[in-house]
Amino acid sequence: SKENVIAFFKNNAFVLFTVAAVVVGIVLGFALRPYKMTYREVKYFSFPGELLMRMLQMLVLPLLVSSLITGMAALDSKASGKMGMRALIYYMTTTFIAVFTGIIVVLIIHPGKGSKAEFGKQQKIEQVSPADAFLDLIRNMFPPNLVQACTQQFKTKYGKRVVTVTMTVNETLFNSTNATQEVMEISREEVIPVPGQVNGVNALGLVVFSVCFGLIIGNMKEQGQVLRDFFDAMNEAIMRLVAIIMWYAPIGILFLIAGKIVEMDDLTQMGGQLGMYTITVIIGLLIHGVLILPTLYFVITRQNPFTFIAGILQALVTALGTSSSSATLPVTFKCLEENNKIDKRITRFVLPVGATINMDGTALYEALAAIFIAQVNNVEMNFGQILTISITATAASIGAAGIPQAGLVTMVIVLTSVGLPTDDITLIIAVDWFLDRLRTTTNVLGDSIGAGIVEFLSRHELRSKDVEMGNSVLEE
Ligand code: ASP
Repeated sequence: SKENVIAFFKNNAFVLFTVAAVVVGIVLGFALRPYKMTYREVKYFSFPGELLMRMLQMLVLPLLVSSLITGMAALDSKASGKMGMRALIYYMTTTFIAVFTGIIVVLIIHPGKGSKAEFGKQQKIEQVSPADAFLDLIRNMFPPNLVQACTQQFKTKYGKRVVTVTMTVNETLFNSTNATQEVMEISREEVIPVPGQVNGVNALGLVVFSVCFGLIIGNMKEQGQVLRDFFDAMNEAIMRLVAIIMWYAPIGILFLIAGKIVEMDDLTQMGGQLGMYTITVIIGLLIHGVLILPTLYFVITRQNPFTFIAGILQALVTALGTSSSSATLPVTFKCLEENNKIDKRITRFVLPVGATINMDGTALYEALAAIFIAQVNNVEMNFGQILTISITATAASIGAAGIPQAGLVTMVIVLTSVGLPTDDITLIIAVDWFLDRLRTTTNVLGDSIGAGIVEFLSRHELRSKDVEMGNSVLEE
């Protein structure tokens, strides 16, 4: 019908605009590079992109809280327990596969080959044990102050770049032996406020709170009705705001990308080891995103994974443009619910959790980068050390906030756990802005496919709940 055609055009117009924005952004960026803009000029130029980041980020907190609370309240505890288990198993499995892929790829390609660097810093570095990293993760699940958990952030600086880190990382660093001192020193350096930087939230803590809160009000009968209605309406209102902001997204993405290309360091740096390293990361992410995840989706659901991916294309491009999986969250919601018709009870439940703790791209990246740094220092990693790296890389990916370059900062945990020099993070900074975008895209892909798989596995619970509630089955 005519309405369908218009709806179809609208959906695809969005995707077309967004993809076009990336292309135009790249072209424009390279065209403007010869003019060598000053720092201030670049910031003025990227202003429309900065605005998009701020708008999306503005929605994340209310969206995360309201979707989780309504999502949990809509399920009975048995159903949500089962779905939660499935989601967790999916997250853990895919994260481990990602870490494993990263390790294999970096060991085979060996991008750090031919290094003559002396490795003299080893003795000076105290090790953070995997236990420290793990305890910190748990600690952050329970923010002592909820209001603070929504706002607290911490800026640090590696080399020329300023990185914002949330409490999640902050605590790990500050509570861990000698790493503490190093990071304190870094943070004492001059911190330039970077326009376009997003505010950090301790998302992990808020997720835990919202899940518990939602479960409780779901079981409260009439007394809980006012709260369920409140968060339901709030969620609906936020999603309407998302729909409006989506019209602005292509412009924002265009300037985010163009601005980044204008200000990036010279590509001549990319020769040699750093170039090989970049290629290795790209290969690892491609294997995970194009091969492993789609295969997993196909094996479990028997549906075409690439049709599924086509539906979330806009979320993937937004991830590429913003390099933040939490800023992308509103778009991921829209794509999965509207294009891929994933049940809202699933998306509300798994997406906020996924965007916070499930980061396949980051996990792959951290393990790979740590071994690269070992290679550059001519250190052979033994099996035990590689095992330690895989555990801490997993913890570091869970602990990393879904904000730009958070993974670079949680690298400190991985490096110190095997006694590698944290200073060497500066070796990979030049390319991180780019690799960050790719791993963020992989993170969002992993979350989305997870939602698809959990929905498929939970179809019986969803259906029986529909019958019980008298809903028309398989609607929405
Ligand atoms: N930027 C990534 C994300 O938002 C996290 C990272 O730095 O790896 O998913």
